[in-house]
Amino acid sequence: MSNTKNYTQTNIGTFKDFSKIGRLELGKSLQLTGSEISFNHLEKGQFTPFVHAHKQNEELYIIISGKGQFMLDNEVIELKEGSIVKVSPKCERAIKADDLQSITFACLQTQENSLKQATNDDGIICKTKASWMK
Ligand code: ZN
Repeated sequence: MSNTKNYTQTNIGTFKDFSKIGRLELGKSLQLTGSEISFNHLEKGQFTPFVHAHKQNEELYIIISGKGQFMLDNEVIELKEGSIVKVSPKCERAIKADDLQSITFACLQTQENSLKQATNDDGIICKTKASWMK
């Protein structure tokens, strides 16, 4: 058996208290090899100070709480808790918290078209039993 664990973990606290953190990228601390994930908080009326796009990576924005607006190319859409938006690399984007509510969201970044299989095509049912399985 190898001494290297097949997992890494962290805890960023409760999302309720996330406003103190602002922005946190977890790729390095979790030693991610196929994605980057960040957790972000914008106070009421706060916005990212630039519009950006990507070279290769698509982004998945997952709104955890609050409200905001999202500029996607020439369109502005409303964001609220539960909103999930996939953004293609070339799309020009900027996010803003609502004027009356802050927003907390996760952003998962992965290389566009890199996923070759998932879930049922990639998962393997193992013979091992967890301690809580009879
Ligand atoms: Zn980005």
